[in-house]
Amino acid sequence: SALLRANRVGDGLVDGERKPFYVTVKRKPGIQQARMQLPVCAEEQTIMEAINNNAVVIICGETGSGKTTQVPQFLYEAGYSHPDSDNPGLIGITQPRRVAAVSMSKRVAMELGLTEHEVSYQIRYDATVSPKTRVKFMTDGVLLRELAQDFLLTKYSAIVIDEAHERSLNTDILIGVVSRVLRLRAELSKEDQEKVKVNDDDNGDTFWLIGWEVPLRVIIMSATLRVSDFTLNKTLFDKPPPVLKVDARQYPVSVHFNKRTPDIDHVTEAFKKIRKIHTRLPAGGILVFLTGQNEISVLCKKLRKKFPPLSPKASARQRAVEKEKEALEEKKEVVTAKNAEVEAEDLELGEGEIDKNVDLEDFDFDEDTEDEEGFTDEEEEQEPDAPLHVLPLYSLLPTAAQLRVFDDPPPGTRLCVVATNVAETSLTIPGVKYVVDCGKVKERRYDSTTGVQSFEIGWTSKASADQRAGRAGRTGPGHCYRLFSSAVFDNEFEQFSTPEINRMPIEGVVLSMKSMNIDTVTNFPFPTPPEREHMAKAERHFRFDLCPPSTSPLCHITQLLAYLGAIDSDTKRVTELGRTMAMFPLSPRFSKMLLIGQQHDCLPYVIAIVSALSVGDPFIKDYHLDDARPGDSDDGGSDNEDVARREVKEIRREEVAEKERRKLARRMYYKVQTKHAGLDPTSDILKLLNVVGAYEFAGATEKFCEDNFLRPKAMDEIHKLRGQLTNLITTNLPGVDVLVDPRMCPPTPIQLRALRQILAAGFIDSVALRADLASAGAAGKGRKFKSTRGVPYRVMWSDEDAYIHPGSVLYHDSPPEMVVYQEVFKASRVWLKGE
Ligand code: ADP
Ligand code: MG
Repeated sequence: SALLRANRVGDGLVDGERKPFYVTVKRKPGIQQARMQLPVCAEEQTIMEAINNNAVVIICGETGSGKTTQVPQFLYEAGYSHPDSDNPGLIGITQPRRVAAVSMSKRVAMELGLTEHEVSYQIRYDATVSPKTRVKFMTDGVLLRELAQDFLLTKYSAIVIDEAHERSLNTDILIGVVSRVLRLRAELSKEDQEKVKVNDDDNGDTFWLIGWEVPLRVIIMSATLRVSDFTLNKTLFDKPPPVLKVDARQYPVSVHFNKRTPDIDHVTEAFKKIRKIHTRLPAGGILVFLTGQNEISVLCKKLRKKFPPLSPKASARQRAVEKEKEALEEKKEVVTAKNAEVEAEDLELGEGEIDKNVDLEDFDFDEDTEDEEGFTDEEEEQEPDAPLHVLPLYSLLPTAAQLRVFDDPPPGTRLCVVATNVAETSLTIPGVKYVVDCGKVKERRYDSTTGVQSFEIGWTSKASADQRAGRAGRTGPGHCYRLFSSAVFDNEFEQFSTPEINRMPIEGVVLSMKSMNIDTVTNFPFPTPPEREHMAKAERHFRFDLCPPSTSPLCHITQLLAYLGAIDSDTKRVTELGRTMAMFPLSPRFSKMLLIGQQHDCLPYVIAIVSALSVGDPFIKDYHLDDARPGDSDDGGSDNEDVARREVKEIRREEVAEKERRKLARRMYYKVQTKHAGLDPTSDILKLLNVVGAYEFAGATEKFCEDNFLRPKAMDEIHKLRGQLTNLITTNLPGVDVLVDPRMCPPTPIQLRALRQILAAGFIDSVALRADLASAGAAGKGRKFKSTRGVPYRVMWSDEDAYIHPGSVLYHDSPPEMVVYQEVFKASRVWLKGE
């Protein structure tokens, strides 16, 4: 900072006057050429002028126009994040999805020719940030967490909030908070600027920064023009921010509806359609939109079986053919250089021919009457030996696999990406000519009266269906096949997706914000504020009178926070303990478990358990198993009988699978046995601990995951999170030492007991009592049972019977009087999972 001041004096500039600062970037010629094709690059000058002259700028541009990859580079070249410039703070870019944060940071690093430490990413359990970082991609959740620690965003000179059109809860809150940060920083700049104290989280340093007269720059980016919620909302920004519109080339896309919305599941329907496109239509990539990972895996498997990828031999042959072609082309080039016009005509003719071959408009996909089997057999005979390059794309996919969608498909094959709606606006996949859209989206819902959550699949909105269709028109005219009828589209699709904040119970919103240290929620500047009345009512609920069951679940949650000691019941504010808990990037119950985990040297085990629970189930599940998970069913609209029938099937499958998993867990336990007695997995959570321990003992290898049906990415995340938490604890809690060695001996019986107590303390609100005991009124008087199957339990906040899920290790044991559970799911029954 002294340097900064000195520079200015040396420059002889009047205080406040700024010298233009540019950073020269030498990009590879290929990269530079590709950039110049992007519509955003034509607007660089306009965009940078607007950013330099306004605190907030909104940029709207069609998906693929280059917003995410280019705008951060404009900022970088204009000197933002350069230590010697007037804007030395980081350039931060937020994304609603982890996939996008990771892959976009890699892309931008590559384009700028910088390392992954200079252009880095930070997502919840993984980061490449370092002191060298200049440009940081992150999820919006990560930035919200940072805001809880550093409300002025002192580390940043520019914040880019991307994908604002999605209107996720986090994005909305972020825009609201940032509008206040802007005001605060502007006010501060009037006072003594040198008194701004900065905490550098990464190094644990505190230093002084000057230059607050340079306010924070905020750039909001949207793939649609629907931004009036941001511009017209007077509580948000003092004056409406300018909206820059980037015109993108978009080729026409013909949309083909199904004649009827099929009864069969959309995965089968998608498969049929892809088969037809692939066997009958000209070259061009296919992009398929499904709702989740399981559907994607099933479709990919099916497609790969039907259209096997090139064998090594065949691909070698293919490469030889390609080489020959290239050689020919080179020769041709010499000729065509002479006569470019003829060439152009040829090209046009070529495309015309393609259209004549297959009449796309009449391309009838409606096959309700067709016999699947018969059709398949017939086709097999005539089908050309055309390989399909099938790639899945969803957020839990390992990063390297995610990035494969950007590579050219092997020569002679057709690209087919099967994706969730991450491909709707976040990632632009090159070369897509056909889009197949199931029209649905999976959303987490929360029942505010019962506190039960479920996943539901419903129709997406017209706007997002059109976005999906638009993906087919990036490189040329395209086609979109919708797996539903135009009547359904007209009558059942909403015009726009509702902002998440209006889909959530208001209590949930209030709680999320309280946990972000935002205390006064009623006056918060939301882009679309929920009703004030409701807001105020929800806030009043933050009292800690004892809540009788069946009142608002918020009582239950706030009471949990009070039980955990995170909130003071009188002042309604976060306590010291609560703040220590907020230090961990975890849900409050896990933080609490960590803080009380020091007894009996249990901390390493608690860290392992908490890491595993935070990352989520590491077991690879059989598709069918997972697919039939209650509340995660495929068709939202099916009747109850159907659900019941499916559940019977699912229970059988779960039973078989659970037996397998138990065997597995036992086997692992023998593998890791050392001098200690070891543990028998009599709890789902302790089973996880067992798995983590065994994994580390085996050297934390992918092979171990493969052999034991574990997701390597999940295991790796758990491993990393354990490291992070261990670090956090040793650096922040004085006097607490945790073994840094990730390998741990199985816990002793005493430790096991302590662990059960710690778990119970963390899940204090998630205790279920056997129903017979609940009514008998006293323990010990209950009936005798052989297994937990069909034995009803009572949870604290509902009068409905709940049952231990067949996927639990407890399912075959005699039912305990009380259990703690991780999740409640409602399907035809209320299920308790993860005991
Ligand atoms: P927007 O944010 O406006 O939707 P992007 O900046 O994401 O646009 O994308 C601009 C272009 O960069 C697209 O054509 C996209 O295909 C390409 N692109 C983005 N990431 C990669 C990557 N990792 N590899 C190759 N091309 C990429
Ligand atoms: Mg983008």
